[in-house]
Amino acid sequence: MASPITILKIDGDGIGPEITNSAVTVIDSAVRRAYKSTKKINWLTVPAGKVAQKEFGSSLPKKTIDALKRYRLLLKGPLETPVGKGIRSLNVQLRLLLDLYANIRPVKYMNGLESPIKNPERIDMVIFRENTDDLYTGIEWPYNSSEANSLRKFLKKEFKIKLDSDAGIGIKPMSKSKTERITRMALNYAIKNRRRSVTIMHKGNIMKYTEGAFREWAYSVAENEYGGKFIKENELNGSKVLPKGKILINDRIADNMFQQIITRPESYDIILAPNLNGDYISDAAGALIGDIGILGGANIGDNGGVFEAVHGTADKYAGLNVANPMGIIKAGQMMLDHIGLGKASELISKAIDYSIKEKRVTKDIARYLGSKPLGTSEFTENLIKKIDQGV
Ligand code: NAP
Repeated sequence: MASPITILKIDGDGIGPEITNSAVTVIDSAVRRAYKSTKKINWLTVPAGKVAQKEFGSSLPKKTIDALKRYRLLLKGPLETPVGKGIRSLNVQLRLLLDLYANIRPVKYMNGLESPIKNPERIDMVIFRENTDDLYTGIEWPYNSSEANSLRKFLKKEFKIKLDSDAGIGIKPMSKSKTERITRMALNYAIKNRRRSVTIMHKGNIMKYTEGAFREWAYSVAENEYGGKFIKENELNGSKVLPKGKILINDRIADNMFQQIITRPESYDIILAPNLNGDYISDAAGALIGDIGILGGANIGDNGGVFEAVHGTADKYAGLNVANPMGIIKAGQMMLDHIGLGKASELISKAIDYSIKEKRVTKDIARYLGSKPLGTSEFTENLIKKIDQGV
């Protein structure tokens, strides 16, 4: 038997332990079914969040940081982030620690879900959101701080720019190198997964040297590094048909894109966005399939990845065996794809599709499918049964 692949696991707060353990058993079953005894995951649980705070006096203890630096792959349950004060978001700390510069969120409709739009089966997008640049860097000061005051004086003296004395100030950096690396990741994904287009989402008509530059740099990477694989809209001369083997690269202004993903979602495939646009469009696209709670996502860098559900700790359901584990299971599928165990991921997709078709789902979905809800553990068992049966 090949040596097991070590993956770290953080159980998380609230409903985290229930859904994370559900995902682990589902993933293990799928790997076993797909690869017999030739592949195995060795899960290493590491502490973080509220439990770790109590036990080790830190929500991200040193032993967890050391393990992350060593193993660099993590399946993560949701962690609570106190609003307005206290510790820096653990999610942000993890992203910085492993330089996970891309947030990737696939949004694909699943038959049976109640979508707010007509023909939701046209929705199949993957959003690549830049994670480390733009407003995420958090460089900002309150209106009445000494920093804001100094900056106001500097801008007035050096550039004759007068800012209101009651304006808070934030800085929006966007760099060529960070844009280029996430562009490469999105383009490589498009090629590997035989996708048809990549759309650069930006507000470059207004913010020319940040968002506009993002657009230019992304186009340059596609043009200069991929030997003609990507074709621009204007090179199609009005034709809607792509030449064989080519992938379309185009760009859209952010506000336009919001209406277009609703009115004609089939026009969008891979979306490449800077941080703030990406944040908004990810949730908007998620809402189109009817339930953001079932989405998984990944934060990936050149050397590591954290895979997690999009939703949070849903504390009111903690310990009640009602939470839907689908989001973290889908994140687990992304992890399987990332480590080259795609066959196991496919088995899980089939089992989930089948469960929805049979309406054997947890409360959050059963309530609009009109079926009797399954508990988290019954839903998990049913998925495993389907995987074992190869459905
Ligand atoms: P939330 O935990 O996602 O819960 C909001 C609502 O979504 C729940 O009340 C429930 O809706 C539904 N829901 C979410 N996940 C569900 C699941 N697996 N199964 C069934 N229903 C589910 O959002 P929140 O209340 O805004 O955030 C709570 C905490 O989570 C905060 O501390 C936040 O910072 C944290 N958070 C962490 C992450 C992360 O770790 N990646 C992400 C987001 C939020 P109904 O009431 O309609 O049933």
